[in-house]
Amino acid sequence: MRCIDNIRELTDVLTHKKQGSGIGFVPTMGYLHEGHLSLVKRAREETDLVVMSIYVNPTQFGPNEDFDRYPRDLDRDKALAEEAGVDILFLPRTEEIYAGTASVTLHVTEGVHVMCGKKRPGHFDGVVTILTKLFHIVQPDHVYMGLKDAQQVAVVERLVKDYFFPLTIVRVPTMRESDGLAKSSRNVYLSTREREEAPVLQHSLQRARKAIQQGARSPEEVISLVRETIESGTSGVIDYIEVLSYPGLCPVEEWDGEIIVALAVQYEKARLIDNMIITVSEEDKHV
Ligand code: AMP
Repeated sequence: MRCIDNIRELTDVLTHKKQGSGIGFVPTMGYLHEGHLSLVKRAREETDLVVMSIYVNPTQFGPNEDFDRYPRDLDRDKALAEEAGVDILFLPRTEEIYAGTASVTLHVTEGVHVMCGKKRPGHFDGVVTILTKLFHIVQPDHVYMGLKDAQQVAVVERLVKDYFFPLTIVRVPTMRESDGLAKSSRNVYLSTREREEAPVLQHSLQRARKAIQQGARSPEEVISLVRETIESGTSGVIDYIEVLSYPGLCPVEEWDGEIIVALAVQYEKARLIDNMIITVSEEDKHV
């Protein structure tokens, strides 16, 4: 695995190496876990050259968020990335990737007034800004993104479509701990007790899916069920629970097709998110 922190060197190397089934790209903020590595595995299976980036992107963090204390461990990340089969690890430097003033800015207008976007104004502007830079530098054929961050996937799919990026976004399912907790770099900030309680997030989503499969067709009913399950199982404070169409992220009117039940829970030092995408068909309620 080659580590590169310089844009010019990276583009030179990629020009020479690109071949066959093309470049698979896995953008991350590091502190790698098996969720990230599942994206690499998929990229490894489907493409010839796997590029991962590790960059804790300052523009997607709000002033009171955890940019400074976001967990970082580059040596460990390098070892894990190499073992997982990454060919090139790109480690952008802020002085270069954000060099100069931002004379042209990107602003997301749809799909950001719900879920995390509501509480994190500007977050997705930062996400599409860094990804636009990275997509132009790496010129991937396929970009591997986790459905754990389903809103991010939906927003980036819109970016790619609206601006004709010549790449596909590959949606990768959420990797979980054996008790159901979604793997996340932020899980290290849970106290022992919070960690024991946190699987209730996933359990609440499973209950929601079951209720929908049995015919529940009111977002309020599904939200109350999820709320009750979480409140009875953890001291974490619910930030939001939403039921929306996916990937449109609009209020559910037609209970047909894909919907997302998404939630965020604030613990003392970590805010956890989780979601479930459910394919609803009118037949479900007769099951
Ligand atoms: P992050 O480093 O948190 O920005 O995540 C980088 C990529 O890994 C994003 O596409 C995430 O959605 C994805 N990811 C994070 N956690 C998981 C997980 N538990 N399962 C699958 N993908 C994940």
